[in-house]
Amino acid sequence: MATMIIEGDRTKAASGKTYEVRNPATGEVVDEVPAGSAPDVDKAAQAASKAFATWSKLPANKRAEILHKAAQHMLGKVEQIAPILTKEQGKTLLESRIEAQRFGENIAWFADLADKVHGQHVRLPDLTTYGLVIRKPIGVCGAIVPWNFPLTLAANKVAPAIAAGNTVVLKPASTTPLSTLACIEALLEGGLPEGVVNVVLGQATGEAIVSHPLIRKIALTGSTPTGKKVMARAAEGLKKVTLELGGSDPCIVLDDADIEGAAKAISIGRFFNCGQACLAVKRLYVQEGVYDALLEKLVARASKLKPGNGLEKDSRMGPMHTDTQRAEVEAQIKDAVEGGARVVYGGGRPKGPEYDKGWFIEPTILENVPDGARMWTEEVFGPALPIRRIKDLDEGLRLANDSQYGLGSSIWTTNMAAAHRGVQELEAGYTWVNALQIAHDELPFGGTKQSGFGKEHGVEAYLQYTEEKSVVYGGI
Ligand code: NAD
Repeated sequence: MATMIIEGDRTKAASGKTYEVRNPATGEVVDEVPAGSAPDVDKAAQAASKAFATWSKLPANKRAEILHKAAQHMLGKVEQIAPILTKEQGKTLLESRIEAQRFGENIAWFADLADKVHGQHVRLPDLTTYGLVIRKPIGVCGAIVPWNFPLTLAANKVAPAIAAGNTVVLKPASTTPLSTLACIEALLEGGLPEGVVNVVLGQATGEAIVSHPLIRKIALTGSTPTGKKVMARAAEGLKKVTLELGGSDPCIVLDDADIEGAAKAISIGRFFNCGQACLAVKRLYVQEGVYDALLEKLVARASKLKPGNGLEKDSRMGPMHTDTQRAEVEAQIKDAVEGGARVVYGGGRPKGPEYDKGWFIEPTILENVPDGARMWTEEVFGPALPIRRIKDLDEGLRLANDSQYGLGSSIWTTNMAAAHRGVQELEAGYTWVNALQIAHDELPFGGTKQSGFGKEHGVEAYLQYTEEKSVVYGGI
């Protein structure tokens, strides 16, 4: 049975309660897990607070050295961790390997910053004084993670937090705790001091983290409704929050675009991780001249995405993570079809005994989806893509921005002026021009509008795990 990680303890829930983690491809139980609650979070917060006293005072280059060693050790275990992720989440082994690798790389990327980000010297009018702006870690940080990219999204929070000298109470989604435990355990084996990262498990631990008085900052990746609840609760304790929430990324393809490149990026962007990604091409607007050709290429690519158990070599798309998630996407497709949409590819569940016990769905492409349909107005968190003809860039930009969300966006064109307009006018925290929607370590990532605020990745993320303090030195 899995246990929580609280300082040196590998512990059950204080209540003794447990729950089962099941494989989305087979329905089989993968492991039994403690169902933690407020007393467990309290223990973890106390442990993190104790560890903060020493971790925050280490010389920054020493902290960097420890983190690099721990990351290298964890990276040596990618092949062991990847199947755990596939079994609990459903994604293919290739996707799990990439994700586990990204976890270790992210820790190393932020370790590099630990001794390189500094404060400022400020001249003051009175020359017998001078000012400094110093950066200090915040304290104990809470990290709350969803199930779609359990490792990447945990690393996005843990890596900058601990590199900057903070300590963490981490809560994976209740359905995907096991690969996270394996990654943190590997960091600890690699020399990360106990208590610096503590892992609590179970649905109830989320709210307990947000309300705990010792926890000073909350970073959440999750849905927009959860983000609103977390922000309201965090306000009671005047805590800092970073909210990476839902998205419905538009992609505009103009007549002069490289449609081969666009088709590849859109197909990966929509169907990677069985479409369960915050950053994903979720609404596609294509100019008339290339519409038919692009649609044909997208269908050809979708037809190669064989659904299957992620552990099997020939599977190109795993199942959806839960029955509820699949039902939601199916309802969104049904709503579009009832409004007159045409299913160009997929639209149902794959058939065969190997699919009977899992939450499988076909990659799906629809056209003529009516205005106001759920696929345009809501986040589609699964492998279904609505595609729409546009006359020109003006129409594309108008439709792209007609969304409550503002996470990612992309534009495909060889016209510099059109690309520039896309960059300036698309209402999103990220715009890719003729490029695959990948969140790079080097660039700050985060949303606008109902997609949240605050940044992960980049120096900006590191800075958000520090507080500035002004100092005046006098008497000189
Ligand atoms: P969710 O909001 O249901 O849960 C996310 C996490 O928050 C889980 O660990 C959950 O237990 C916890 N949680 C739920 N209610 C809470 C509360 N009241 N207080 C504290 N914690 C609480 O989301 P999900 O279904 O796990 O994930 C899918 C959603 O995440 C989608 O909307 C997706 O777009 C979003 N997402 C966003 C990004 C991004 O970077 N913007 C990345 C991935 C996923």
